[in-house]
Amino acid sequence: MPLALNAQSAPNLRKENFGKTPNGRQIFLYTLRNPAGMEVKIINYGARIASIRVMDRNKKFDDVVLGFDNLSGYISKNDPYFGAVAGRYANRIAHGTFKLDGKLFHIPLNDGPNALHGGTIGFDRRVWDSKDASTADGPAVELHYLSPDSEEGFPGNLNVTVRYSLNNRNELRIDYSATTDKDTVLNLTNHSYFNLAGAGSETALNHKVMLAASRFTPIDGTLIPTGALQSVAGTPLDFRKLATVGSRINDNYEQLKLAKGYDQNFVLDHPGDLSALAAKVEEPNSGRVIEAFTTEPGIQFYTGNFLDGTIHGIGGVYRHRSALTLETQHFPDSPNHANFPSTVLHPGQKFQSTTIFRFSTE
Ligand code: BGC
Repeated sequence: MPLALNAQSAPNLRKENFGKTPNGRQIFLYTLRNPAGMEVKIINYGARIASIRVMDRNKKFDDVVLGFDNLSGYISKNDPYFGAVAGRYANRIAHGTFKLDGKLFHIPLNDGPNALHGGTIGFDRRVWDSKDASTADGPAVELHYLSPDSEEGFPGNLNVTVRYSLNNRNELRIDYSATTDKDTVLNLTNHSYFNLAGAGSETALNHKVMLAASRFTPIDGTLIPTGALQSVAGTPLDFRKLATVGSRINDNYEQLKLAKGYDQNFVLDHPGDLSALAAKVEEPNSGRVIEAFTTEPGIQFYTGNFLDGTIHGIGGVYRHRSALTLETQHFPDSPNHANFPSTVLHPGQKFQSTTIFRFSTE
């Protein structure tokens, strides 16, 4: 089709100012658009996805991720990592402490007794360098951050690059890469909150979810993995076949009680295989679908249990369980579990990770 050819050779990317941080750093808003009209907005504050607009089965566009239309929303203390890249260590590190090469490291505690998403000022609150990285395949933005040695207690200067690209098959691709000059630990994810009926819809409990995971990492009362890899068989965490999120979320099952809903790391059955479907989400009324593919070994499936109606963002008020996340990642607290896939990065090594979210309707 001439239209598609044309669009391929002229990637559609727009760059606008999105305001300044309190200390004067300019933040940009990039809009990536494909020939189907799908639009993804990226900001260089926290390397965040600020918006994803896709069609429903009646060709109506809506924003399907929670977020704000202004910078102050993202900067505010209430922001629960909307769309952000979480790092240097996404998810939890027990007591903010781990041992590496015989030395103890301490990350600030910001989640009860634990460190969450990289400490007090994680990658979600940093200003990233950004540039147009579009190719013939479509629009793309590349973001770069140098996390200095000892930042939030982590060893080594870490150079991190995140590239968001959109193609004409409605695939949003996220490529992460990093290098370090000292041994360090690293776990990166994107923390988008999806509601396929549209951000601000009352609930996400009607969404159907499939997770290609036969096991999960059970948690304790502070949401830290016990270290076990437990079968999902016979539990409300069995999403190997599409299941409605709300159908079992209130079951009297300890793991659900501890997390006030779903907030567990699922152990993917095909780790490292970007061609294997890792997760699928369907919303019956809009017909919108997400399929997720990743090179990561796990997915934190979180049902917005800590949203409580106090945040007003794009589309309205964000109520309890009104969104869900598919945080492709290494397992939580891996630095303290020798049996989990390693999150150690050595100098001379290049960390690489890719996740694809493909949008469609049915
Ligand atoms: C965690 C949740 C947490 C949310 C926002 C998720 O990755 O698993 O427990 O509430 O991030 O911080």
